[in-house]
Amino acid sequence: MGLLDGRKGIIFGVANEKSIAWAIAQKLHKEGAELAFTFAGEALEKRVRPLADSLGAKLILQCDVTKDDQIEAVFRQVQSSFGHLDILVHGIAFANKEDLKTDFLNTSRDGFRLAQDVSAYSLTALARHAAPLMQGRAGSILTLTYYGSEKVIPRYNVMGVAKASLEASVRYLAADLGPKGIRVNAISAGPIRTLASAGISGFLEMLHHVEAKAPLRRNVTAEEVAGTALYLASDLSSGVTGEVIYVDAGYNIMGM
Ligand code: NAD
Repeated sequence: MGLLDGRKGIIFGVANEKSIAWAIAQKLHKEGAELAFTFAGEALEKRVRPLADSLGAKLILQCDVTKDDQIEAVFRQVQSSFGHLDILVHGIAFANKEDLKTDFLNTSRDGFRLAQDVSAYSLTALARHAAPLMQGRAGSILTLTYYGSEKVIPRYNVMGVAKASLEASVRYLAADLGPKGIRVNAISAGPIRTLASAGISGFLEMLHHVEAKAPLRRNVTAEEVAGTALYLASDLSSGVTGEVIYVDAGYNIMGM
């Protein structure tokens, strides 16, 4: 018997087999969840579709989270196909590459707005549509964040500010949705090689730094993040909401 037998979930944020959202999807599926998948644009469909097919997904839908009509269409289809929803995984972030190279001081208005829209506001937009489908079902919404929200990580810049906004959104959403029995949490993951992290200048330096300084003296894997996602998606965490849980080999506790 799986921890998620009979549960229905939707995964936002798979781009390829290295995506953290893909590791989470595999873990949730293994524990019995039936999953729907979305892809950000046509270019990614050919990568996402075979992965989703391999888990027997019936719903594989396009969703650029900056487009309200696409968000609405996704949840209409989820409603007609699943009828309800138990789990939503948000593994989405984007910022202009040039904003992750220069000083934060040089962030443009458009670059700031784009990072906030895709990486932070999208959680609220998706949660608002998911909530009616989760009503009365002890739903769980989870997102992925990074320590650059709290401390200055060189060149993480506008994304750090977006992650701060995302983490605050988790708390406000948890307060709004808690009375409906819906939980909202974030996992703060250590650096992992993915498509998104390849866009951060000096990312290798981040990996080496964590390996040298984190209590566990290593980096984490997407599978380890997925283990915590399973805990947050399941009844094992039924009393936990509004939290940011670190899966970072302990890096965040170090002062020196
Ligand atoms: P990834 O590139 O595999 O995933 C990012 C996803 O965001 C992609 O699937 C991409 O299609 C999606 N996306 C971007 N713009 C979008 C839009 N407009 N509409 C819909 N989807 C859009 O990389 P990842 O590292 O797995 O990132 C997943 C999450 O984990 C992100 O929030 C990221 O910030 C976070 N995170 C990553 C790391 C890391 O080191 N890799 C560490 C901590 C947190």
